[in-house]
Amino acid sequence: MSPRDAIVVKNTRVPGAGHAVDVLITGGRIERMSPAGTIRGEAGRTLDADGRWMLPGMWDHHVHFTQWVIRRQRVDLTTTSSAAEVLSVVQRSLRTDSRRLVGFGFRDGLWPDQPSLAALDAVSGDIPVALIAADLHCMWLNTAAQRLAGVQTDPSGVLREAASFAVMDRFGSVEDLTLADYVQTERAAAARGVVGVVDFENAENLTQWPQRWRGGVDLLRVRAAIWPQFLTEAISAGRRTGDVLTGGVTVGPLKVISDGSLNTRTAWCDEPYAGLDPADPQACGGPTVPPQQVRALMERATVAGIEVAIHAIGDRANAEVLDAFAATSAGGSVEHAQLLRREDAPRFAQLGVTASVQPEHAMDDRDVAEAYWPGRTHRAFPLARLRDAAVTLRFGSDAPVSPLDPWIQIAAAVIRSRDGRESWHPEQRLDRHTALAASTGGRTTLQEGDEADLILIEADPLSCPEDQLRSMPVALTLLAGRITHSTLV
Ligand SMILES: [Zn+2]
Repeated sequence: MSPRDAIVVKNTRVPGAGHAVDVLITGGRIERMSPAGTIRGEAGRTLDADGRWMLPGMWDHHVHFTQWVIRRQRVDLTTTSSAAEVLSVVQRSLRTDSRRLVGFGFRDGLWPDQPSLAALDAVSGDIPVALIAADLHCMWLNTAAQRLAGVQTDPSGVLREAASFAVMDRFGSVEDLTLADYVQTERAAAARGVVGVVDFENAENLTQWPQRWRGGVDLLRVRAAIWPQFLTEAISAGRRTGDVLTGGVTVGPLKVISDGSLNTRTAWCDEPYAGLDPADPQACGGPTVPPQQVRALMERATVAGIEVAIHAIGDRANAEVLDAFAATSAGGSVEHAQLLRREDAPRFAQLGVTASVQPEHAMDDRDVAEAYWPGRTHRAFPLARLRDAAVTLRFGSDAPVSPLDPWIQIAAAVIRSRDGRESWHPEQRLDRHTALAASTGGRTTLQEGDEADLILIEADPLSCPEDQLRSMPVALTLLAGRITHSTLV
């Protein structure tokens, strides 16, 4: 490593500690940390941290990366409440994107005005514009988009139900994505301090990610998960969790979906959902993959040296999955762990199973949880209980379900409220130290010899005002000593 490749970060602070330090980075690692003013600038490129706080780089432990790339390309219409507002967002967005425009998230049920093809054409001209409703059941298309999709609507410009589903793929399918789209999405994540993701996209991740990395999509480390349909192939190729595939891409865990979800009342619970007939065989939700099959998959993976990541949301599903961990000695995580029996939190710790959780889901779902799990929500998203039982916690966004931004998860865990509402089950709030560690792979400070995956942020996350956590400005992100994001001049 030549001195040219060295970076000196001068005058940075460690959260919770008063004194400033200089950090010398060579060969992708932290070579030296010493009191501010003691490392000379000539050692390499110098960045003045100007007293900003240094943390280990952040991880998002649960993403569906390609789905997030697609979502990010769509103009956000979720906050609009009329056709006129949608039109003005479209008009604003077209100034920066002239290839075509796909919007997502309008809800036309309560609009005071009507969508019209002529009005949409008037703001968009020849650029194809396709606007997808939040529930996916209709699209508002301009004439250019209708031509592209080979359809024609009435004067409203709106295509509904089957007719809409039939052409939705024309406006943002996986095949349309370019490597540049992935790089842009990685850059946005790096700008929030992210250095790595665990990717649970339902795809052939072990072959796709190395190709992407070699094609220049290299701003994030990726642990590429294996879906059951690709397990045989992975095992016969001798892949083990942690193996480096290329660059920063490593083999991740086997992903198995053991139950459904809260919103669809399909997550597998001990008691019936409120509002469902208890005599209905689906009243408690149920398994997506039968427990015996989950166990067999866990066994096969474990024997082959592959960790597992098992989706379990309901309390029954979590209990079953913990039993399976005990029976198979598998290593890995439960993904979501949203509703837990009282006695199950300590079992995570006893079995060495990580709880991979998404605190922002608690904010999105608090009302639906109160409605469907009445009298049980003290056991829902029980982050403090898991911490108190000494369970290893990891945070993720489940992007595109919530945005790929670890500060949103940290804020949700620490405050357990959003939009000025009262804190939801405040006894389950997490302390900041635990929340940070869950977002950085377990450590909140760096030492000499560590890989130089690090960030500089504008405030001390252990003591800043709570409302600063969610939008924490990130000034610098380094991945193995390489700058992947910087606002420092
Ligand atoms: Zn997911």
